[in-house]
Order: sequence, then C-alpha cells, then structure tokens
Amino acid sequence: MILRSLVSEINGSRKITRRRPPRFELIAGNVCLDFVNTLDDRHTKPKELLENYLDLARFAEDTCLLDSNQVDRLFARSQTDPERAQEALKWARELREAIHDVFWAIINRRPAPPLALAQLNGSVQNAAEHMRLVPVKGGFEWNFDDLNQFERVLWPIARAAADLLTSDQLPYVRACSSKTCEWFFLDTSKNHHRRWCDMTRCGNRAKVQRFYERQKKASS
Ligand SMILES: [Zn+2]
Repeated sequence: MILRSLVSEINGSRKITRRRPPRFELIAGNVCLDFVNTLDDRHTKPKELLENYLDLARFAEDTCLLDSNQVDRLFARSQTDPERAQEALKWARELREAIHDVFWAIINRRPAPPLALAQLNGSVQNAAEHMRLVPVKGGFEWNFDDLNQFERVLWPIARAAADLLTSDQLPYVRACSSKTCEWFFLDTSKNHHRRWCDMTRCGNRAKVQRFYERQKKASS
C-alpha cells in the first residue's frame, strides 16, 4: 500500500519522509536530550514514554533519524522477532539513563559517574563500528549501515551525545527549572537565560503558581 507523504523534511542533505503526525514533544534542541526526556517526570512520578519497540521507532521517526518506511519495516520485524526488539528497547533505556546521568552530573557541576560514562562510551564505540562516510552534494556526511538492525536507532543518539559532550555547547545544557519536570534542553537563547523546557508546558505553570503564592501572602 502506498501512503501519501504528509511531511517531508530536510535533515542535513537527506530528505526524510514522515507521514505520521509527531507523537513526542521535542523541545530540547538536541536529539540526545530529547531522548532523555522520554522518561517523563523522572524525579517525581516517572512515566515511561518508551513502553515498547514501536515507541522507540516512533521517536526515531519524530526526530528524523528514520523515515516512515524504515519505521514500518522495523515495526513489522519487531512483530516477528519480539525478543530481539525487546532487547534493543532495554539497551535504549540503559543508554538513555547513562546519557541522563552524565549530563545531570555536568548540570550540577559534578564529575560524570564512571559507570554511566563507561556505558555511554560502549554505545559510542558500537555506533562508530556502523558509521561510514558517504559523499553528498558539496561534501560528505556520516551515515549508518545495517538499517534493519533494531538497535540502529541508538547509534545516532549515542553519537549526538558524544558530539554534544565534546562541543562548546556543553555549558548550555540545562534542566527545566520546574522540579516536577527537569526535562533537559540546550539553551540556545541569546543571553543563555532560558529556564523552562517550554513556556506553555512549565513556564506558565510556574508563573501562575508564583502569582497564587503572592496573592495568598497578600491576603493573609
Ligand atoms: Zn519543564
């Protein structure tokens, strides 16, 4: 069956075909940080947004790591080989927690926990084994082989984390100021004073709360 593309996006020089509406709130400005945010309300009432392999594939689709056809193929394969798909999901969650722990330490000005860093290093090395340079118009870009492997979703995420950790953007990785949220994001605002993952999601909620507390104080 041929479905008409609803969305086509340019990711670097690759054209990505996406025909489903996005499912994930991508506010972080970097795929590895959006990936961390797939465990919602992590420090209060953790809610797992990657409940099954399809969720992971859909995250990859939303972030343009895979196109809709690749997601369909991986999902079909996950139905026939659920054990390996489940294993890849487990690795995905482990990678996510490792990325979280490393960046959380950096945000809190502490050394990166050795175990989390070792785990991330393992994933980065694994990703490197599948990376290859391909010529594109005007130059080259990194690409990944073995498109049909369940864990191929994890390689670009591990790579993005490594790139961010070694970039001059690292000091601008933040956690949302809402204590119930603490979603990660890259603060690319002009003055680097961004406090909220998203104004509508957390910023306004905090404003309303402050207003309420001021009113309460004034009336007591
Ligand atoms: Zn937030």
